[in-house]
Amino acid sequence: MTDWADELAARVRAAGPQVVNDSKTPSGTVHVGSLRGPVLVDVIARALRANDIPTTYLYGVDDMDPMDAQSLLTPDAVEAAMGKPLAHIPDQEADGHDSYARHHAETFIKTFAGLGVLPDRYYWMSEIYPTGALDPYIRTALDKADLVRDIYRRVANVQHPSTWHPISVICENCGKVGTTIVTEWDGEQVHYECRKDLVKWATGCGRSGWTSPFGGRAKLPWNLEWAAQWSLFGVTIEPCGKDLSTAGGSRDRSDAIAREVFEREPPINVAYEFLNIAGRKMSTSKGRGAAAHSIADVVPPEQLRFLFVRPRPNHAIEFDPEGTDAIPRLVDEFDRLAAATAGKEVKGELPAGYESVFRYSLVDPTADVEAEAGVYRPPFAHLALLVQVPGVDVRSRVEAEKGSPLTDRELEILDERTRSVQLWLRDFAPDRARIEVRRDGLPQEAAGLDDRQREFLARLTDEVARAQPTTGDQWQAAIFAVASDLGLDARQAFSALYLAFLGRMNGPRAGWLLASLDRDFVVARLREAAGVGTPA
Ligand SMILES: [Zn+2]
Ligand SMILES: [Zn+2]
Repeated sequence: MTDWADELAARVRAAGPQVVNDSKTPSGTVHVGSLRGPVLVDVIARALRANDIPTTYLYGVDDMDPMDAQSLLTPDAVEAAMGKPLAHIPDQEADGHDSYARHHAETFIKTFAGLGVLPDRYYWMSEIYPTGALDPYIRTALDKADLVRDIYRRVANVQHPSTWHPISVICENCGKVGTTIVTEWDGEQVHYECRKDLVKWATGCGRSGWTSPFGGRAKLPWNLEWAAQWSLFGVTIEPCGKDLSTAGGSRDRSDAIAREVFEREPPINVAYEFLNIAGRKMSTSKGRGAAAHSIADVVPPEQLRFLFVRPRPNHAIEFDPEGTDAIPRLVDEFDRLAAATAGKEVKGELPAGYESVFRYSLVDPTADVEAEAGVYRPPFAHLALLVQVPGVDVRSRVEAEKGSPLTDRELEILDERTRSVQLWLRDFAPDRARIEVRRDGLPQEAAGLDDRQREFLARLTDEVARAQPTTGDQWQAAIFAVASDLGLDARQAFSALYLAFLGRMNGPRAGWLLASLDRDFVVARLREAAGVGTPA
């Protein structure tokens, strides 16, 4: 559902140019659920621009945040670096990034372009602080320390000591930022202590002394840094996750700080729900398989956008790609809405606003929606079958199904999906999706065929000789025709074919399977399995 984005655009139209912002703390491997923010912001930016509202899309990396308990929820935390700014921790992978923060942020951000998510500007807090751009906000926060403490008390029921000041110095001795506390401010310098026991997840070195908090020597606590970003960049709209949007939570605190400390109206919030993997909140799972870049590899870009665009922001997304058909189902549903958008008749109910869901799922915001809806998209499961049958010319099989040659755009989609099904089969597919056609000879398991199934197989050879099926649909029709003539249950008919060709009781759509194989081989195998011409 995307009507919320159009409503938002209508609401702000009179207010003039808009700045939409999203940011991320690169605590470690970034999971696929974290793509929800960037995709939502992209949908907002597209909706604003469609309403002729000049729009700037900013994406920030909060890389001065310390390595803290969040990092421990990823597989990547570095024990010795706990408490240090993420930007100051060396890349643990030694693959050319300048820091731990750069490694994880860039790996994540690299997925954006492929998804058509194109922020106008990226900013890194580790680059902003040293320029002095935040110094005025640091000064204001320190001058109004009383007020900040009062806001924490009022909004969040958090009681800071009366000497607490809203700034974290980067310890000049140990380099940690998560372990320091400032207790005095004289208008130019702060007095700080690097405490051994300030936080549970890191140990300070004990250093204390006076230092300047400006020019990158200190960072604002997150709630103040967020509000300072809004002022610095003029942010007017910023969605954020439900965990931050609770009453008295991070967003409420930053909103109050924006209004009362930096004296600016905070941006409009669009609170969004999580993506759950198998019922677990997915922002912080240890599973590497669910990393944003891994999922972006296997799920084609339009279907990955679709995953996030389809539900309203306040609806949780359930996505469980490992060992399931979740990815094929996602692709199928996208294809169904594409077909409906093209005006074709489709099975099942259509969700409200499906045409705009389809439009916002397209990677290219300037794409010809009607043309895109009309292109031929080979079903995911069919491709997953074709790539597993040795010697199949996938392109010509797909063209046979379509009934005409593929256009350049359709070839592009075919390539994209072929790559996708290969990765899916390798890393995600349930075992039942992996097949091996038993070419060497009739599988032993075919001994389990009963008389009626054997008769079905025998009659199918006659039907094949008569109807000469070539496409999967034609084969499927032949199978159904023979089964119904015999009064044989379709399930029995299909399992006869699976036993004869795959040596098991289940498999992919049988029509596709038989269409992908050489017809002489199919007929010979049908006869053999039926027992025709073999001594009893
Ligand atoms: Zn790296
Ligand atoms: Zn220290």
